Amino acid sequence: MQRPYNFSAGPAAIPQQVLEQAAAEMLNWHGSGMSVMEMSHRGKEFISIYEQAEADIRELLAVPANFKILFMQGGGLAENAIVPLNLSRGGTADFVVTGSWSQKSQKEAQKYCTVNIAANNAGLNGKPGHTSLPDASTWQLSRNASYIHICTNETIDGVEFHTLPDLKALGSDTPLVIDFSSHVASRPVDWSRVGVAFGGAQKNLGPAGVTLVVVREDLLGHALAVCPSAFNYKTVADNESMFNTPPTYAIYIAGLTFKWLKQQTAGALTGIAAMEQHNIAKAELLYRAIDASQFYVNKVDVNCRSRMNVPFFLRDESRNDAFLAGAKARGLLQLKGHKSVGGMRASIYNAMPIAGVQALVNYMQEFEKEQA
Ligand SMILES: *Cc1c(COP(=O)(O)O)cnc(C)c1O
Repeated sequence: MQRPYNFSAGPAAIPQQVLEQAAAEMLNWHGSGMSVMEMSHRGKEFISIYEQAEADIRELLAVPANFKILFMQGGGLAENAIVPLNLSRGGTADFVVTGSWSQKSQKEAQKYCTVNIAANNAGLNGKPGHTSLPDASTWQLSRNASYIHICTNETIDGVEFHTLPDLKALGSDTPLVIDFSSHVASRPVDWSRVGVAFGGAQKNLGPAGVTLVVVREDLLGHALAVCPSAFNYKTVADNESMFNTPPTYAIYIAGLTFKWLKQQTAGALTGIAAMEQHNIAKAELLYRAIDASQFYVNKVDVNCRSRMNVPFFLRDESRNDAFLAGAKARGLLQLKGHKSVGGMRASIYNAMPIAGVQALVNYMQEFEKEQA
């Protein structure tokens, strides 16, 4: 059965194979007589699910041995508080603002530490909104920051870091914190440049409810005294993410998604490297169609256009409702842009096949012709 193509920014599409396997295992997981939802998180069945998921994401993302992988709750927004609670030591943290999410992060951090805005792309190069990336060489870093926070893919604004900044080359050994919520597992990660990475699962890894956190070991154990125990990275790490009941079902679905990711191929490439090739091809197809048209426009600088979230506008905005209604009638769902940006947004995460992007491009071209 061909389901509609779902362009939601999150919670987002999940691979059909994962949903089918979860459905088949719903009432009786592997002969246990239980649904995964009904299992003790400390029983051998769930422990096996957990350990496999952890091993698979470690392998997929090539996470080095000196990083802990944590499955937490609270989503990306809770991490905006959890990170300063664990890392700031009450001092200063540097933030690079490139869109709505990093803006939110710096605001929340102000409750726990001093915030320095090292760079802000709002209105940069005379363009309104968040549409560019300030070059790392221009960042005004503080001398004693406890960490530097960036959002490596701005889900709402469609701005992505295609490479992580090389802070060591800028003479800084301050840990880099990345919010990779909306492009985790879409491409490899250069861990030599990262101190902490966090992301909610509901964009690219599975259902809402679990947050993937990857922490370099030397950053554990420095939490502020007021940090809730369940949000203390060291406590969570020491207890293999079982200090309290973890979001068991969400971890299970994420685990099935990791298995699906491991099966991806592109030529000789497998896993995340293959996924990255598919994501490049999908993004190129869509941006090329937008750029070739007189009818649609994307305003983000070409060097930092997101492969995952493609905001675009109809030049005649009075056609927006007709565009969305026609899309829905064709099984192209959830294309309305975020209210703060307007227009349209196509989120084309890992689970979106290139056929879905092609269907969207075909529809966009036909809609444009109809309007002429
Ligand atoms: C969705 C998102 C968040 C927020 O995640 P919640 O799970 O709603 O807290 C944070 N950062 C980015 C980049 C996101 O895309």
